[in-house]
Amino acid sequence: MVDTLIEGGEVVTAQGRSDADVAVTDGVIDRVGSELGDIAAEERIDATGRLVMPGAIDPHVHVEWPDWDYDVGARHGGRAAVAGGVTSVINFLIGPPGELRSNYEAFRAAMEEHFLGDFSFHAAVFTMEQVRQVPAFVEEEGITSFKLFLPYRGEEVVEPLVGIDDGIVYELLEEVAAIDDEYGAKALVHPENVEPSFEIKDEMRNAGAEGDSVNTWNEVRPDFLEADAINRLMLFADETGAPVHFVHMSSEKGMRAFQRNQSRTRAEVTAEIQVQHLTEDAREHGMLAKMNPPFRTSAEHDALWEGLRRDDLAFVSSDHAPCTTEHKDNIWDATVGIPNLQTWFPLFVTTALDDGAMSLPRVVEKTSYAPAEHYGLTPRKGGLWPGADADVIVVDPEERTEVRATETLDQSDFTPFEGREFVFPEVTMSRGDVVYANGEVLGEEGRAEFLSRPNP
Ligand SMILES: [Zn+2]
Repeated sequence: MVDTLIEGGEVVTAQGRSDADVAVTDGVIDRVGSELGDIAAEERIDATGRLVMPGAIDPHVHVEWPDWDYDVGARHGGRAAVAGGVTSVINFLIGPPGELRSNYEAFRAAMEEHFLGDFSFHAAVFTMEQVRQVPAFVEEEGITSFKLFLPYRGEEVVEPLVGIDDGIVYELLEEVAAIDDEYGAKALVHPENVEPSFEIKDEMRNAGAEGDSVNTWNEVRPDFLEADAINRLMLFADETGAPVHFVHMSSEKGMRAFQRNQSRTRAEVTAEIQVQHLTEDAREHGMLAKMNPPFRTSAEHDALWEGLRRDDLAFVSSDHAPCTTEHKDNIWDATVGIPNLQTWFPLFVTTALDDGAMSLPRVVEKTSYAPAEHYGLTPRKGGLWPGADADVIVVDPEERTEVRATETLDQSDFTPFEGREFVFPEVTMSRGDVVYANGEVLGEEGRAEFLSRPNP
């Protein structure tokens, strides 16, 4: 007798696709096979005509951005995640300059209390004090990834944070290199050389440049600044030996800079992309879509899809940052960030199905298997092998749902994808519990688990 049998569907994992049933017991995958129909099960889920896939893992999330209480972020983020097929997230932990731990406990407690899937953190580092705490933090908390916000300098700095400089960058990479062998530690880098863009912005603003299209922001922060930061950080990676992961790629120039240098860098260098940079054109979006790096134009898409298919881009993510219209008065001063936790996976899977841009097993690889591998969550997450957490989604590839901000479950009041039609999951299961089904959130708060890394 198993707890749940998901029967009659087509199972899609990074390893392939087949008509099979999925048996779940005690929150983990018991077995996957073509002739399980006869076994006794407490619950049965009919997946006839549906795809059955591992839940999506979103490794780039800011549920509390820009100014929500952790409780609010965790609660709304948890609901948006399961409605979008996301069963695990890694959220950024951005604390005041002094130390790494000050906000960690409160944020972790809020996630444990309110989030509906599982979670971990990446810790942002801005000061030498924080750099020095990295080894102990890795060892005691199981958080092995550290974020360098390269553009956080000059006028970009938002109090109480302090700006970063290249000395901190260098010292963090040295620290990460020293503990990498034991823990699989990584430095995460937002690659943009921001200083020229301060001048470009002033010039454009003074010249009265048009401010309602988000393409203006694309022009403020041009692609070559991304390529410049990638070139330089590749050199830092080579020099220190630290694994460096670029968390945002948005342009062909950036992609080429990465590809030119990757084989010449002695350290492991990897990259990811947000789905919106593969699909959206800034000229078709208003200033609510302001984020960094900016929405670019469709001229970049071919090179980025090619990078994804070649695995130069290891996986995709959302950069969910649930601003509201109140945070976005005008293009120049608007807070950066878009709500996307509920929509990134549906946008990606829908694009793959409609454009044939990527096969379904590769979609699963890019949204579940690869991020799990990269961040030390395998074998618990990332697939449907026996013993894996039963994080499973059931998707009807024929059914489209219109995206409406009034119906998305995060705390934002807009979505850049208003009116678009995406494939959403019908059922989302987390560790064997159905947490979302047919438009309704069923998961109860208090069930989220912190994912210590690397996962044994
Ligand atoms: Zn981000």
